[in-house]
Amino acid sequence: MSSAADPRFDVDLFVIGGGSGGVRAARIAATHGARVMVAEEYRMGGTCVIRGCVPKKLMVYASQFHEHFEDAAGFGWTVGETSFDWPRFIAAKDREISRLEGIYGTNLTKAGVEIVAQRATVAGPNAVTLADGRTITAKYILIATGGRPSTDETLPGREHTISSNEVFHLPEQPKRIVIAGGGYIAVEFAGVFAGLGSEVTLVYRGDKVLRGFDEDVRDHLMAEYQKKGIRLVMGEVFTGIEKGADGLTVSFRNGHAPVVADQVLMAIGRKPNTAGLGLEAAGVKLGKSGEVLVDADSRTSVPSIYAVGDVTDRVNLTPVAIREGHAFADTVFGGKAWTADHQLIPTAVFSEPEIGTVGLSEAEALATGCALDVYKATFRPMKHTISGRDTRMLMKLLVDGETDRVLGVHVCGPDAGEMIQLAGIAVKMGATKADFDSTMAVHPTAAEELVTMRTPSHRHPKAPKAA
Ligand SMILES: Cc1cc2nc3c(=O)[nH]c(=O)nc-3n(C[C@H](O)[C@H](O)[C@H](O)COP(=O)(O)OP(=O)(O)OC[C@H]3O[C@@H](n4cnc5c(N)ncnc54)[C@H](O)[C@@H]3O)c2cc1C
Repeated sequence: MSSAADPRFDVDLFVIGGGSGGVRAARIAATHGARVMVAEEYRMGGTCVIRGCVPKKLMVYASQFHEHFEDAAGFGWTVGETSFDWPRFIAAKDREISRLEGIYGTNLTKAGVEIVAQRATVAGPNAVTLADGRTITAKYILIATGGRPSTDETLPGREHTISSNEVFHLPEQPKRIVIAGGGYIAVEFAGVFAGLGSEVTLVYRGDKVLRGFDEDVRDHLMAEYQKKGIRLVMGEVFTGIEKGADGLTVSFRNGHAPVVADQVLMAIGRKPNTAGLGLEAAGVKLGKSGEVLVDADSRTSVPSIYAVGDVTDRVNLTPVAIREGHAFADTVFGGKAWTADHQLIPTAVFSEPEIGTVGLSEAEALATGCALDVYKATFRPMKHTISGRDTRMLMKLLVDGETDRVLGVHVCGPDAGEMIQLAGIAVKMGATKADFDSTMAVHPTAAEELVTMRTPSHRHPKAPKAA
């Protein structure tokens, strides 16, 4: 037992939220000898496991078979009649999610963590109230309540819409779906439903999806989506949704003709889960969107209360929540102080084709004022030279023209997520373009393009110093 145990409190650590960040923090704290309790009001595993990354990726896999069957013909295969059984897939997916949920619970219990399957709220700097009325005192409280889908409360007919929470449990596959949003969740589900054969309309108020991503990546993906028959309606917002005999009719503000669909998915962002949690009364400062404000150690304005993951709205990704939770537990209970590093986080968008990105976009790199060499290649992936599919892959490297350091890597094409995990190591280590060039190519792959791009496609001179 470490020095963590403090007899003045019922537990050393009370974690609110059994998701990516909370589970990791609880398990690590317990292995350091802390007495830990975790409250989870829904299902152990949190958003990522239950209604986020994992079921989403399974849906992405399900959606890819259609093209695989078509592509097979170019390689001499005759594929018989194919069909997709939505309820059978959903049941298989649900079995896997339940299995993972069980593993999360078991691992916590094995580590000595006590799980309370109910809602918890903060009652003070060292106290938590459970839904059953009990109060538990804790030396430290960790807020790991994640986020939830944003809703448009003013939208007429919003009761007919679904969010990403419901999309995983629809009783039948929508033949026609309208998706609102331009972020990665909207884009990913557009790809999923198009792959499954639904008629997809993606509606976004901006002029391009995936704000914040490199412009070439945004343009490339939109072009690929158009080739797949996804209807992209940019610069539009809903004015209302009406239910009629033929389905849901979505109307628009800026003149686009109404669209009729079986489901309308709102993927217009997420907000931190802090409502009704008792944080402000306990003295915890929240930001403008309700996010818990924390320092680099994930500590809030109340020294005994910490927060990790999406509820802090720093970088809302599972591996980030996990790192933050781990750093917190090691620092507070393990005598090993460290902080999660939020720089150069590689990420993927599981669109079809996939996106992998790390570092700066061209616009961000230019904003630093550095001289910038841009290496860009688009090409038809080898598989599709024979399959005949009209699709292209994009690779882009952004290099500091003076230091030769690689500032950004952007890939859009098959396995981009897998590639960027590894490219991310090099970029994080501060690799230069010369390091990339001196690495032998793996042939024949698409990834070899990253080490064989010799001549910049364009160069931006260093910005003159402001007077
Ligand atoms: C559709 C979708 C797809 C995603 N895909 C990816 C992806 O591909 N890759 C990636 O890295 N990230 C992805 N994410 C983001 C990822 O899921 C989150 O970043 C991650 O789950 C954050 O972990 P967390 O611990 O902060 O919160 P969560 O995992 O959200 O866990 C919070 C938990 O707290 C519980 N809770 C809330 N309030 C209380 C309370 N008062 N009492 C008790 N329990 C409470 C909730 O029920 C929930 O289980 C996706 C998210 C969504 C919605």
